Amino acid sequence: MAAEQAETHDVLLEYRREENSSTGCIVTQIEGSAVSIEKFERITFRDLLTRLARTLAKTAGVPRVILRRTDCVNLFPYVLDRGTVELFRTDPVAAIHSMTFETPEAVVVKKPQNTPVEPAPLRVGYDTLADAFGELVYVRTRATSIECPGCGMWGEVNVSRTGRGVFTCKRKCASNFRVTISLTRLWAAVSVDALLDNEHMTRFFLPRSWNDGRSWISREELKTKYTAYTAEKEKACSLLATTG
Ligand SMILES: [Zn+2]
Repeated sequence: MAAEQAETHDVLLEYRREENSSTGCIVTQIEGSAVSIEKFERITFRDLLTRLARTLAKTAGVPRVILRRTDCVNLFPYVLDRGTVELFRTDPVAAIHSMTFETPEAVVVKKPQNTPVEPAPLRVGYDTLADAFGELVYVRTRATSIECPGCGMWGEVNVSRTGRGVFTCKRKCASNFRVTISLTRLWAAVSVDALLDNEHMTRFFLPRSWNDGRSWISREELKTKYTAYTAEKEKACSLLATTG
């Protein structure tokens, strides 16, 4: 696990392309709360990157930069690698130059190429979402893939406009492992029920905080944990019902 920063700065760049122009906003967040929002309309991609560079110059430390195309639902949020973020701060001209050739768009245009994508940095403000155990558990995402909760290998998944899709593992789980996922921030949520419905699976790859630092959890352990969670929840709900 990576070390936690004192304060998590995130810069979210959300935009949609219309022909050769981009419309969207740059949101700066500290610990998950927006501290500034800059909107832009019909600007060139170069201008968009210039604005991003300006925002990064004003941000303390090296923030995490997340790019999201709002017009491409199949493209998951994309996290800029730290090297590029640092380049934006030290040499914005070089960074802008490198980005106009190597942008997330490139992934959309040339699709079959299985280019490795920089994995998302591990700890961020809203990663706490993935730390807790509940009806849903979370798996990592990058570009158009998720980290299979069956085997831990990366696999592609198509999602609808609402961020939902059915993931079928084509790697180690040999295509007979299917779960519905829904994108939440940088994570894909999977219901524990759906995992357990895959009855042939004897263990799951869920390296989350709630799993006590382990990568795997056996079917029995997951079931036990889920039963305990459900019982706890029902108790809380009935308590609310009687006191309410
Ligand atoms: Zn798998």
